[in-house]
Amino acid sequence: MSRVDHRHRHLDRIAEVRAGRHAEKVGYPIGIREAEVVRTAMVGSGLLRLTLGGAGTEGFEAHAPDEHVKLVFPEADGSLRLPERNGSMLRWPRPAPTSREYTVRRYDPATGEIDIDIVPHDGGLASDWAHRVEPGAVVHIAGPPGGLIVPTTYDRYLLAGDLTALPAIARWLEEMPRTARGWAFVEVADAAQEIELCPPDGVEVHWLHRGDLPPGTGGALERAVTAVTVPAGERLYVWVAGEAGQIKPLRRWVRDVWGLDKADHDITGYWKRGIADFDEDDH
Ligand SMILES: Cc1cc2nc3c(=O)[nH]c(=O)nc-3n(C[C@H](O)[C@H](O)[C@H](O)COP(=O)(O)OP(=O)(O)OC[C@H]3O[C@@H](n4cnc5c(N)ncnc54)[C@H](O)[C@@H]3O)c2cc1C
Repeated sequence: MSRVDHRHRHLDRIAEVRAGRHAEKVGYPIGIREAEVVRTAMVGSGLLRLTLGGAGTEGFEAHAPDEHVKLVFPEADGSLRLPERNGSMLRWPRPAPTSREYTVRRYDPATGEIDIDIVPHDGGLASDWAHRVEPGAVVHIAGPPGGLIVPTTYDRYLLAGDLTALPAIARWLEEMPRTARGWAFVEVADAAQEIELCPPDGVEVHWLHRGDLPPGTGGALERAVTAVTVPAGERLYVWVAGEAGQIKPLRRWVRDVWGLDKADHDITGYWKRGIADFDEDDH
């Protein structure tokens, strides 16, 4: 009974925030699930799509475009240490098990399928695993712990990021009201990494080609975002994610030049060059 009540509470809160004036992170009951790899496929040349399913994905909660799950991996000695459900939370063993965070690109309640789009890159534990994994393999997913709920009442939205942010940006563009206006900037190496998107007519999508520069370097995102002119008097929401160092200048820009309140933007380092398992909260 209390579970049912909790469900209603967070769904009600999500609806309230969406109709309100400022964005807010809303928590949902967190699960730890054993899922099965149903298939893998490339989406453009830069994203490896992992479709998960099986009995364990039933009842998965998905409500916000940038919500994420942790893929939990076995340790080097082969042991698997999983968090345990504790009411609507998870109790994690210490030290924390090996895991990596990925956006929920799609959840289909009818089939129970969850898509996760992974950027393959050299020397990454999750990336290497995704390269090798075959249909039928089992993987444990924890979360999402909640999601950033952004009202549909802003005048303009600005979304920006690199390939790791593209799954969230793609979901943002699909889920926004068709009347939304704004800009999306996505940095990719080249045209082969561009994917089909479904933006509202009033949202301009700009692909920024990095060329031969390594991922996480160059100033294309910064240049593109800081060149935007926001019409005077309009309320803007800004969402940015990508390599921590690359997006850093945008934090200052959004705060000092556009004067946005904390609740009107979200800028998150999703990874950092040279650091495995980067967690922004630790830096
Ligand atoms: C909330 C959130 C959502 C995210 N969503 C996604 C998503 O949907 N798709 C996605 O691909 N990533 C996403 N990320 C980023 C992802 O968690 C990191 O890229 C992670 O480090 C990848 O783990 P790994 O085991 O492959 O590499 P690690 O073992 O963590 O890192 C090994 C080395 O690879 C480098 N590295 C890490 N990521 C990249 C990269 N993308 N390109 C080049 N070098 C890299 C590191 O700097 C390090 O030197 C998200 C991160 C967060 C916090």
